[in-house]
Amino acid sequence: MRTPSVEDYIKSIYKAHAERGNVATHELADRLDVSAPAVSKMMRRLSELRLITHTPYQGVKLTRAGEKLALEIIRHHRLIELYLVQAMGYSWDAVHEEAERLEHHISEEFEERMDVLLGHPTACPHGDPIPTRAGTIARTSNRSLARQRTRERLIVRRVSDEDSKLLRHLESLGVTPGAAIEFVSQEPFEGPLVLQVGNTRVRLTPQAAKEVFVDAVDDDDG
Ligand SMILES: [Zn+2]
Ligand SMILES: [Zn+2]
Repeated sequence: MRTPSVEDYIKSIYKAHAERGNVATHELADRLDVSAPAVSKMMRRLSELRLITHTPYQGVKLTRAGEKLALEIIRHHRLIELYLVQAMGYSWDAVHEEAERLEHHISEEFEERMDVLLGHPTACPHGDPIPTRAGTIARTSNRSLARQRTRERLIVRRVSDEDSKLLRHLESLGVTPGAAIEFVSQEPFEGPLVLQVGNTRVRLTPQAAKEVFVDAVDDDDG
């Protein structure tokens, strides 16, 4: 793997923060698959660039400038994914890797043209919100399907985009963003989740369900 860039670090810090709040440096080492000294060195550099604040024992935080940079890269990533699917015929399980590479290289004009061509979209093919040009981002569900315990009708909001096998599996079951599903039950001893998807009963392992994020169906959603 290539050496992670400033942008890769900033994006990882942003994502780790969105998932769990405080970000410890060893967590970044894991996520980016780099050594602890490499992370320390980069943390000094990012502090000098005023993209992060780093307080010992409290972890790393993005400054407003760091957050804006993260959202800019994420905007590129998600627009590129959608462009690859809608304009180039890629399937949704094949675009994350391409976007990981391309996100660092496109110009503002290229970004703008994709946005216009796609009709100012608000989400990537995996249901993740696309940040606006101004650097804001819509809230999204962090409610993992794996935590569901009681029978309930749900809307799939987004799925984790990093594992293409998992994406193909979810697609074959109809568990995709925007799908209305019903959690029926979970089989004993941490067994598979039983879901109603349209007219079909499907089973999903808890491991796969962890990567699926849902909201309850409001009364006005039907
Ligand atoms: Zn992606
Ligand atoms: Zn995506």
